[in-house]
Order: sequence, then structure tokens, then C-alpha cells
Amino acid sequence: MTHVVVVGCGVVGAAIAYELAQFPDLSITVLNRQPPAQAATGAALGVLMGVISQKVKGNAWRMRQSSIQRYEALIPELEAIAQQPIPYNRQGILMCFDAEALPKWQQLAETRQSQGWQLEIWNQENLHSRCPQINPEKVLAAIYSPQDRQVDPTALTLALVKAAQTKGVTFHFDAQVLELKSESADGLQACQQVHTTAGNFSADWVVIAAGLGSTLLTQAGIQSVDIRPVLGQAMQLQLENPLGDRHFQPVITGDDIHIVPLNNGQYWIGATVEFPNDVGEVSADSAQLDGVLEGAIALCPALAQAKILKTWSGLRPRPYGRPAPIIEPLSGYANVLLATGHYRNGVLLAPATAQAVCNLLAKEHIY
Ligand SMILES: Cc1cc2nc3c(=O)[nH]c(=O)nc-3n(C[C@H](O)[C@H](O)[C@H](O)COP(=O)(O)OP(=O)(O)OC[C@H]3O[C@@H](n4cnc5c(N)ncnc54)[C@H](O)[C@@H]3O)c2cc1C
Repeated sequence: MTHVVVVGCGVVGAAIAYELAQFPDLSITVLNRQPPAQAATGAALGVLMGVISQKVKGNAWRMRQSSIQRYEALIPELEAIAQQPIPYNRQGILMCFDAEALPKWQQLAETRQSQGWQLEIWNQENLHSRCPQINPEKVLAAIYSPQDRQVDPTALTLALVKAAQTKGVTFHFDAQVLELKSESADGLQACQQVHTTAGNFSADWVVIAAGLGSTLLTQAGIQSVDIRPVLGQAMQLQLENPLGDRHFQPVITGDDIHIVPLNNGQYWIGATVEFPNDVGEVSADSAQLDGVLEGAIALCPALAQAKILKTWSGLRPRPYGRPAPIIEPLSGYANVLLATGHYRNGVLLAPATAQAVCNLLAKEHIY
């Protein structure tokens, strides 16, 4: 048996544990310092902007494409194993844009068609008949992505945990990892034990999926990963009736604001993007959240009648000075992988990240 320890149980760590659990030669332990699906995952809106993203080539597109494909099978698979429903919106994403952005979106629609995916440009007439809730004075055109999705990140992560447990993965939700105890071997460090507040865990391989906590865990090594927080605020609203056609409730997005339909006339609205100051601190600015609500009302005026049920914030883990995410061996170590720094797309990229970690471990012939 090869012992793999996964540090972190947000959506990324949970997805990795679930996908690794299919290999019978691995014994998998997940360590988290709090219950699962808190931290960034607990704040996320779960909008999966794959086909409609402007990433068209290279790894960025490959990961988006493979995640969107994997989600279609993963959700029913998890619902069956975990015996619990996962809210998963299959009605697509509608992106509203200004007239001058039309050529950029037409180009994307052509590219996606050549890649076997579908995007539809809607003129104002189309838009008004399909989504009458959208303000015709503000929005002249939109692009509709029927194959993109939205998922409840907390329900997804809890289902991943439950399904992984049924496949033999062990979870500890009171284990703050303090140190990777390592020995030198062939010029590299090899982590032998993971030292935590709940005891020591022996490891043949360690996967660091600790989001913002990854920086501290890698500081003892040759090269630490610098991951900094970018704060996001969001809110849940209640309307008496759903916006527009109750049978067609896609995610609506415009000016970087998402309007995410839930059940019973409820919506998530978000999110702000607030960067830290020079010393790495960031606190929620209520004016920015007001701005998001104003922007959402400008897109869908009926939201002005909504009652605010709750507001919240979370910290996105953003790699400093390099693109997100980081999925690679930790420099200086023979047996530590990084799967972290997913910034604004951790829910979208969790399935592809899990697949990439499986591939990296397969290269090492550990299963
Ligand atoms: C408001 C908001 C909206 C968002 N919307 C979207 C969206 O629509 N779509 C999308 O794809 N993404 C979205 N995101 C981004 C997404 O939330 C993140 O990219 C994703 O959740 C990162 O997941 P993770 O598992 O890497 O990190 P986290 O969810 O932060 O989990 C890391 C875990 O590691 C644990 N940990 C850290 N250090 C240690 C340690 N030393 N020992 C033990 N445990 C440790 C933490 O306790 C935590 O449980 C949003 C984020 C925010 C804040």
C-alpha cells in the first residue's frame, strides 16, 4: 500500500481524494483543520465558466474543457454513491455584453464551434423573448452558453467527501498540519511524516491542496509558494417570484457580476474582487458589495424588490506573480505535489485538477 496524505478539504482536496480512491493500491488520508467546504469553497458561487471563458488554447482551455466534460458524469455518479442531491444548474450561462465587445464574442463562438462546443449570440429581440427580466436599455446583446453549468460548491464538496469515505478514504477534520517532517535523500527532501495537531501521519506522498494555507506549509522548503488572498463578497436575495420565465433560469452574468438562480425565487449575487494592501491584509468593503447589488439591479431591475437574506465573504487563493492554478511537484521534494492557488476558478477546475494529480502520481508509478 502507498500512503497518500492530502492536506486540505475544500473542493480541490475533496475532488483529489475522490478520484484517487479508485486506485486500490493507495491508502488515502485527508487532513483538514476545520470541517470540509469552509474557507474559499464555502463562499463560492459555483459558476462553471468553461466554454464561455476567453481561454481558447493550451492548458488553461484543456483543464476547463475536461472539467466541464467530467462534471456531466461526476454529478450523477456522486448523487448515486452519496445518496444526496447536488444542486446543479444545467440551463447554461448567459453573458450580457456591450455592443463594442460583439466582435470578440463572435470570434469566441467561431472558435468554440471549431472545437465542437456551442455558443449562441443573441440580439436584443432574442434576449427579450428568452429572458425578459434583462433590462433592454442596458443590454443590447448577449452570448448564451448552453453547455456551461453552475453547482452548489458546499453540496458538491460534502458529496465528494461522503463518496470518498465509502471508497475507503479516511478524513480528519481536526488536524491542522504544522510541518512536513522530511529527510534528505539523493539531494532532495522526502517527506516521511505529516505532523499535525491531531498527531503524526506517515506518508509516501503528500498532496498540498490547502488553498491560502499552502504558503505556510511550503515555507520550510527550498521554494515556498506565495499565495495571497483576494476577497470576495456575495449575498443571497429573495424575490416573491422567480425572474422572467420560471422554466428557464440560466446564470446571468454581466460586468463581472453573477446572478445565480437557486430555488423558490432565491438568487446569489456576487462577487466583489478586493485585493490586499502592501502587507497582505484585506477586509470587506461594504461599498463594493453595494456596487455589486446596484450592478445586478441594472441588469435585472426586478431585483430592486428583493429582500437580502444574507451576505458573506471569502478569500480566494491567488498565486502571486504567476498564473493560477499551481499543479506541480513542490520544488526540492521527491514526494510532495502542489494542487493549489485556484483563485477565481477552483470549483470549475477541481475535476481537472484531480485528474492532473492522478496523472502526476501515475508518472511516478505509484499505482
Ligand atoms: C465570493 C467567492 C465566489 C467564488 N465564486 C466562484 C465560482 O463561481 N466558480 C469557481 O470556480 N470558483 C469560485 N470561487 C473561487 C473558489 O472558491 C476557490 O478557487 C476554491 O474554493 C479553492 O478551493 P480549495 O479547495 O483550493 O481551497 P479552500 O476551499 O480554501 O480549502 C482549503 C482547505 O485547506 C485547509 N487548510 C489550510 N491550511 C491547512 C493546514 N495547515 N492544515 C490543515 N488544513 C489546512 C483549510 O482549512 C481549507 O479547508 C469563488 C470564491 C469566492 C471567495
